Amino acid sequence: MSTTCLNWIDNKYEPPIGGEYCDVTSPMTNEVVGKCAVSGAADVNKAVDCATAAFPSWSSLTMKARAAIMLKFHALVKRDTQKLAELIVLENGKNMVEAVADVAKGNETVEYACSLPQVAQGKNLTVSRGIDCRDTRRPLGVVASIVPFNFPFMVPMWTSPIALVLGNCVIVKPSEKVPLTMNAVCSLVVEAGFPPGVFQFVHGMADCCNAIIESPKISAVSFVGSSPIAKIVADKCRGLNKRVVALGGAKNHLVALPDADKEGTVRDVVASFAGASGQRCMAASVLLVVGENKEYDLISEVVERAKNLVLGTAAGELGPVIDASSKDKIIGYIEDSEKSGAEILLDGRNPATTPTASGNWLSPTIILHKSKSDKALHEEIFGPVLSIYKVNTWNEAIAIENGNAFGNAACIYTSKGGSADWFTSRFRAGMLGVNVGIPVPREPFAFGGLYGTLSKYGDGDITSEGAIEFFTTRIKITTRWPAPLSEEVGEEVGIGG
Ligand code: NAD
Repeated sequence: MSTTCLNWIDNKYEPPIGGEYCDVTSPMTNEVVGKCAVSGAADVNKAVDCATAAFPSWSSLTMKARAAIMLKFHALVKRDTQKLAELIVLENGKNMVEAVADVAKGNETVEYACSLPQVAQGKNLTVSRGIDCRDTRRPLGVVASIVPFNFPFMVPMWTSPIALVLGNCVIVKPSEKVPLTMNAVCSLVVEAGFPPGVFQFVHGMADCCNAIIESPKISAVSFVGSSPIAKIVADKCRGLNKRVVALGGAKNHLVALPDADKEGTVRDVVASFAGASGQRCMAASVLLVVGENKEYDLISEVVERAKNLVLGTAAGELGPVIDASSKDKIIGYIEDSEKSGAEILLDGRNPATTPTASGNWLSPTIILHKSKSDKALHEEIFGPVLSIYKVNTWNEAIAIENGNAFGNAACIYTSKGGSADWFTSRFRAGMLGVNVGIPVPREPFAFGGLYGTLSKYGDGDITSEGAIEFFTTRIKITTRWPAPLSEEVGEEVGIGG
């Protein structure tokens, strides 16, 4: 079965005006499983014009009315979870459990968006005798979201439901590598009752993204993807005085102290680096092992557990990486480390058996580095590879973590609260874990790395309260009503019963 993903404009599928398409391949076989529209400025402008026309009536609905449509959308996603998850397995290569979680986690943000009437109010205060000041939120207008391949459902849902309930019209640009999932969401847009032009999808690559960034009618752009592109998008948007939040890549460090709980730490480290084949911005990349543990050898326990992972797309299995070039890049990091004298404790480059002959399969790889300057210790690999480095002191561990150019996540494994506090007050990352290797802050907490690092550019955070700020502008209204004349007051009338 091959699906052609057309743009979704004005609640209708529209072919790209230039007639160009790219192939969508399955990472499990590298066979073509679909075609994706490659749109340009004309397509983006068409979607923007529809969104601009839809904005006045959409934004004048009450927030509760918009949330009611979102609630319907939430129920439809729940109903279609299995169908959406199957598409994620097909085009992204996650295992089925990870794919269902992709949908369920994305739907949690939808659920949060449904609660916005309860949490997104402005402020009101009597600031002087007879003078009130109120601060009210206004939607920005037409906003856009450019998203990566690794979470085909969840990442588009980080932004769009919140922006929509706040009264914006949203254009999503899915990753051209995984357009099938959002293509299936288009029918849910109609079924939920979104009016034409409110929630649209335009497919494409860099040209399409540039048209989005350069459109004078798009007020804000949220971006999630690799650091170099995040920087390009943020710089361009800033140059145009456009609101932007651009999340980039990651190099997450886990630090294990000798008193860390053995079972939990081993299980968590392996799940963190190998889950979703390491293609998560929250995946463990570097494990810093502090000192020696007299009871057990953490490193060999981690290697033993990772060795047992089986390739495939059933529950608990390790899926393929997204494409052949990604596989080659990952192998390149392992080769570089080997050349510099690192020990390859577990070598996943040539799996003995693979579920298909032609997929982008890699088994887990664990590298024990001897040189701090190995590229694999510093650059984002985005594959099932764990770099281990042994240190003698806490300060050495912190110096390595603080010295990395990214700032998405970091985690400490220990059984002592004071030790955990020492590390969490010193890590240089936006999302921290204590005995939690994937420390994703869910709603009502906002998701995002640290500014001033390669993991984040622009303004604000991408989910939750950060998104409420990002997708609205605050208008301050100061009011003084003349006091009523005494004859207007008349006789006092009782209020209520
Ligand atoms: P990518 O940067 O290659 O692509 C992301 C999006 O940008 C895609 O939609 C793509 O079409 C578009 N794009 C490509 N070239 C562009 C250009 N020149 N200008 C504007 N847009 C362009 O990223 P990817 O490979 O799809 O995703 C993996 C990356 O995303 C990893 O680096 C990962 O860490 C990161 N990521 C980060 C987070 C986070 O929260 N920080 C979350 C998920 C993924």
